[in-house]
Amino acid sequence: MKTPPSSEPKGYIPSKLSLRGVGKYFHARGRSLQALDNISLDVSEGEFVCLLGPSGCGKSTLLNIIAGLEQADAGSLLCDGEAVASPGRERMMMFQESALFPWLDVLDNVLFSLRLKPGMNAAERRETAEFYLRLVGLERFHHAFVHELSGGMKQRVALARALAPNPRILLMDEPFAALDALTREQLYGDLQRIWRERRKTILFVTHNVREAVCLGDRVVLLSPHPGRIQRQFSIELPRPRDISSVEVARHATEITAALKGTERHAEEAA
Ligand code: ADP
Ligand code: MG
Repeated sequence: MKTPPSSEPKGYIPSKLSLRGVGKYFHARGRSLQALDNISLDVSEGEFVCLLGPSGCGKSTLLNIIAGLEQADAGSLLCDGEAVASPGRERMMMFQESALFPWLDVLDNVLFSLRLKPGMNAAERRETAEFYLRLVGLERFHHAFVHELSGGMKQRVALARALAPNPRILLMDEPFAALDALTREQLYGDLQRIWRERRKTILFVTHNVREAVCLGDRVVLLSPHPGRIQRQFSIELPRPRDISSVEVARHATEITAALKGTERHAEEAA
């Protein structure tokens, strides 16, 4: 157990994730592009944070840095007080495309993410994979192959696969963006239930304002060129939330106005 700095008040809870002044540049075809500038963000244990912003504002880059898939060029990133430099089992990522292995069935796809988990025998791995497939509602599809699944079912398998090693942090990059509205709504309900039951810390990237309001305790609005934190919105609505509710729409209207401001700003700067 880590002791908090002595200057902190009693009852101090350290951040699960702490970013300070994170910056990132890309170099392509002789040009340098600043993707992120001075990103500072604290995420508490168990918090559900949505990163919202227009395409190209650096959301994926930021998530990849937190995942350890990319390195920041400036600033620091701590997870549980330790510097993050590489991917780790405590931070699992989920993408827009399910990225499942087509030659494996559903159960084997989930088992794959447990292959490096130490201290588990084959029976325990199987039990764990089955548990998470049940959690995402796919208990009857263990032996289906990827091409036999709908888009929503593929994302459910990808979610079970990300959850199976029991990460503390789930990093989700527009995981539902390619799905139809009805399937997405079911997944919003399931994700909120799983987040509560399994007590995960979730960072969820989206460009969909209502989605961000429906899911997040907090919505972090990024503006582009370079990606910066523009504003943060705390969403204090009871759960489970319904994306079609008046309350979600009300918050979404306010955030959309701020988002339009960032886009106008970016056009003027370009
Ligand atoms: P978002 O996920 O918000 O759409 P990204 O993080 O993918 O944004 O990209 C942010 C900016 O960085 C964009 O201008 C994009 O073109 C650029 N970028 C992202 N990845 C690379 C890369 N590997 N090489 C060069 N430029 C990149
Ligand atoms: Mg992206």
